[in-house]
Amino acid sequence: MITIENLTFRYGKSDFRLRIPRFDVQSDERVAIVGPSGSGKTTMLNLVAGILTPDGGKIDVAGTEVSSLSDVQRRRFRASTIGFVFQDFALLDYLSARQNILYPYRITPALTLNAEARDRAEALAASCGIGDKLDRHPSALSQGEQQRVAICRALVTQPKLILSDEATGNLDPDSKSRILDLLFEQASQAGAAVLAVTHDHELLPRFKRVLDFADFREGADA
Ligand code: ADP
Ligand code: MG
Repeated sequence: MITIENLTFRYGKSDFRLRIPRFDVQSDERVAIVGPSGSGKTTMLNLVAGILTPDGGKIDVAGTEVSSLSDVQRRRFRASTIGFVFQDFALLDYLSARQNILYPYRITPALTLNAEARDRAEALAASCGIGDKLDRHPSALSQGEQQRVAICRALVTQPKLILSDEATGNLDPDSKSRILDLLFEQASQAGAAVLAVTHDHELLPRFKRVLDFADFREGADA
């Protein structure tokens, strides 16, 4: 699902440099990413999603070299192939929770907003415990509820790759475990790979593999 080769990236002329010689994720694999704050975990997810462009090397997602696509192609590819739970949720406050969840359908011509998609949004929201809050706007929701809206939005399109940046960060332990169940259940149904940044070390045993960003510091032999 993901193949990274000789990836290098730097923000302008900043001191921070990301270098990943080789990293692969199989199509139904669940990989956790851990590492100190500022080590480049979010940067890597943004590179995989094509939100950032590498300075060197190759990133292949589901058989497509993301960096070779035009901006428009990349946005469409992302919306149809990848579900991304952003660290800061990235919800739109002028839209209701329901409209936020269904947002990928508004911006992607390849996705059709039909009754099935609407039903899926309702069902996801219900399993996340926000089924009765779908008409509220994000500012009228708690952090944890906003986070669950962001998770539903990432899953509603049944993506082949789920990228999750601290998706359980604002939840209590019970909800954490339940949300991870939901992520994994949806991934299994869609045959999707999961790449999840997490600081919850008690969740790590549930992943097949853990990638530690401490190994990717400049000069480290990864
Ligand atoms: P993590 O998610 O592991 O905490 P990030 O990938 O967010 O780390 O950041 C990696 C490094 O890149 C940090 O030093 C951060 O300050 C820097 N950084 C992140 N975003 C930008 C940006 N837009 N411009 C310049 N530097 C950035
Ligand atoms: Mg981060």
